[in-house]
Amino acid sequence: MTLVRPNIAAMQGYTPGEQPRGMEFVKLNTNENPFQCSPAVKAAIGRVCIAGLQRYPDPHATQFRERAAELFKADLPAITPDWILCGNGSDDILTIVTRAFVDSGDLLRFPRPSYVLYDTLASIQGAKSEIVDYEADWSLGERFTAPADRLRLAFIANPNSPSGTALAPAEVAELAAALPCPLLVDEAYADFAETNCLSLVADNEKVLVSRSLSKSYGLAGLRFGFVVAQPQVIEQLNKVKDSYNCDALSIAGATAAIDDRAWFDRTRGAILTTRSRLTAELQRLGFTCVDSQANFVWCRHATTASKDLYQRLKAAGVLVRYMNYAGWGDGLRISVGSDEQIDALLAKLEPML
Ligand SMILES: *Cc1c(COP(=O)(O)O)cnc(C)c1O
Repeated sequence: MTLVRPNIAAMQGYTPGEQPRGMEFVKLNTNENPFQCSPAVKAAIGRVCIAGLQRYPDPHATQFRERAAELFKADLPAITPDWILCGNGSDDILTIVTRAFVDSGDLLRFPRPSYVLYDTLASIQGAKSEIVDYEADWSLGERFTAPADRLRLAFIANPNSPSGTALAPAEVAELAAALPCPLLVDEAYADFAETNCLSLVADNEKVLVSRSLSKSYGLAGLRFGFVVAQPQVIEQLNKVKDSYNCDALSIAGATAAIDDRAWFDRTRGAILTTRSRLTAELQRLGFTCVDSQANFVWCRHATTASKDLYQRLKAAGVLVRYMNYAGWGDGLRISVGSDEQIDALLAKLEPML
């Protein structure tokens, strides 16, 4: 195909985790929440439907930003609604940020192994990816902050996927201070972690923190995410987004979701408890696991190949994520499902080893 830009013709395109239709799988491959969202979310969406959908939505999702600013005051006292920009999932946020900072021929830096979409975003932009491997202890060394010509943006996922590891906020602050470009901290999993980097946004206009409602609020199907940055940065990002990137249903649903703290605390607690149990059981079965700060566990078995296990589990009706990073290695990323799902996984897995 020669009609499109050469960088588009040359790129692979992002392949999301499998979303099988039809056959019932125990689905532990895309870090969805095992719990249904808060009933308040469904009620809020229902109210919007009844009122009608003939009008365009609020282009700035003001209702959500006002509630979110209140919620995040504890972590970031300076925050007001103009520190927040909303998106159609946090993938939309990552696209907006890349579009705003990275030009054709520029450099976008991110670690390996991490979220595969970062490379796709660089390719779409006609930019180059610069990939820096994590150290053996999952820290990032000096290569990550080294100056480079045309380096315009760096991404880290924190907690990281697929490892589930997290850098401490003080370490992230050091990276941001040393980097010659803005740093986007992708906090899609921060709600499952002990700490987060929101407070860093106040001290450094080069720090942007993105969040998602897909995982910790059980709303992957709704598509809602947002970024927190200083207002002069948000103002620029606003120029780059689609005018109506969040629809009326998702704005109402997302606002109701962050307002239901009881739902959040209860489901988060259950997921963290199951995460500990899953980790301990995998270790008992001979897996090496990394201690996770997210809603999944990254593991490798001592003697059985990860790809084999992925395939045999799939044949047995259990879907986990097999990740293979060319030049780095592979492993299994298993989402923390419900206790019943984890029991089903373990029952199928044990006889395979
Ligand atoms: C799931 C995920 C996202 C995207 O979340 P959406 O809000 O569903 O677009 C972003 N970053 C990482 C690291 C993720 O795992």
